[in-house]
Amino acid sequence: MDPDEFRRHGHAMVDWIADYWSTVAQRPITSQDPPGAVAARLPLAAPERGEEFPAILADLDKVVVPGLTHWQHPNFYGYFPANISGPSVLADLLSSGLGVQGMLWATSPACTEVETVMMDWLAGLLDLPERFRSTGTGGGVIQDSASSATLVATLAALHRASGGQWRASGVQRRYRAYTSTQGHSSIEKAARIAGLGADGVRPVEVDPEAFGMRPDALRAAIEADLAAGDVPAIVVATIGTTSTTAIDPLPEIGAICAEYGIWLHVDAAYAGAAAVCPELRWTHAGLEYADSYCFDPHKWLLTGFDCDAFWVADRAGLVEALTVMPEYLRNAATGSGAVIDYRDWQVSLGRRFRALKLWFVLRWYGAEGLRAHIRSGVALADRLAGLVRADDRFELVAPHPFSLVCFRLRAGDEQSTELLERVNATGRAYLTHTRVDGRYTLRMAIGAPQTTEAHVRRTWELISDTATVLVGPEGRHS
Ligand SMILES: *Cc1c(COP(=O)(O)O)cnc(C)c1O
Repeated sequence: MDPDEFRRHGHAMVDWIADYWSTVAQRPITSQDPPGAVAARLPLAAPERGEEFPAILADLDKVVVPGLTHWQHPNFYGYFPANISGPSVLADLLSSGLGVQGMLWATSPACTEVETVMMDWLAGLLDLPERFRSTGTGGGVIQDSASSATLVATLAALHRASGGQWRASGVQRRYRAYTSTQGHSSIEKAARIAGLGADGVRPVEVDPEAFGMRPDALRAAIEADLAAGDVPAIVVATIGTTSTTAIDPLPEIGAICAEYGIWLHVDAAYAGAAAVCPELRWTHAGLEYADSYCFDPHKWLLTGFDCDAFWVADRAGLVEALTVMPEYLRNAATGSGAVIDYRDWQVSLGRRFRALKLWFVLRWYGAEGLRAHIRSGVALADRLAGLVRADDRFELVAPHPFSLVCFRLRAGDEQSTELLERVNATGRAYLTHTRVDGRYTLRMAIGAPQTTEAHVRRTWELISDTATVLVGPEGRHS
């Protein structure tokens, strides 16, 4: 494909995406394809001869679109949002077009330096503690995901807890990780990859109302492990758990970590974005104790996957934990010690120029635009919670400090399960579920850029009307 062909087909591709975005709200959110249907629409083998681009483009509508779940639909409320935006997509295109590998500073200085500055900009926008800024001993890096951030934090924590022994000889003593019973599954996965095993993760009890980690239970778990001769290496606290957006009490947890010299990693994958708003920064109280922190701009901050923002307070420790120096990567800039080589801050060697999408997004929206986006999600969640509260057939199950609302039918699990299935089957809204105190609970995660008050109101009407079919109109007074 020569540059002129690229220009022509590129315009057609951008048109296709713009059309998709402007019509996505009219599509059924989930695919009706049974398993295997998409694969059956594809030939059994790659074509022998190259094809024309229009033929490829035409097959998108035939082969791919019917098998899509439309994550950018304004009534997609499942999981957490996976925001994308025009500036983010255009920057991703640019990153692909440049085709730069940013593993070393020397392999493209702009790829490293734009990233360092963007991470400082983001730290400023969230008002993160000074210790995470590159101007001091810390710094930020873009990881592909919060899962990778937790893994990298775990490795750095093991390096520190073992006094450097872990790097040479692996996990030979019993190192321990701690997270609440509500901690994300990626914490166990990181522990397994790092060699601690699933048993190396201590699940810490949460308080029964707000579901935050109980500091006394954390202390008891640490003491029990110390008494058994184990080594507490890392505590992963969460701001905004996946199940209900619970907030662990960082001031107390941080003080315990400081007392025992345990690495504190804070996972704010979804909720971290809220800290662009000063009125929501209380959710980050105690963050000054953290050795590392991450959140996903690819969830709620208008930046397409993949983009996890990860910071450490001691970048030298992180680099020591992860660096390996083969002859073929040696170069004068690295040798001078004056540059950052981000390969030493992550698992893989290669890396894309992902900072471009942060740069574009932050400039296009400005801090004001980002705050408006977060505030809109929080206000809509508030509005939804009001509607749930006004209907006696339902109950709110957890606090909703961000844009996730958890609720269920008082009638019971069976009715709540049926409700979710029926609502999703309409194709007009999509919610997911969790279990809270063992009981089936619907999660409605607001935060897509296209979602308006009318979408939330109509979705609630759909939920409420479906509830009437299942449990009758009794108790309804909204
Ligand atoms: C979504 C989520 C993760 C995982 O995010 P990825 O970036 O997809 O790895 C981790 N922790 C929490 C609290 C999450 O909500």
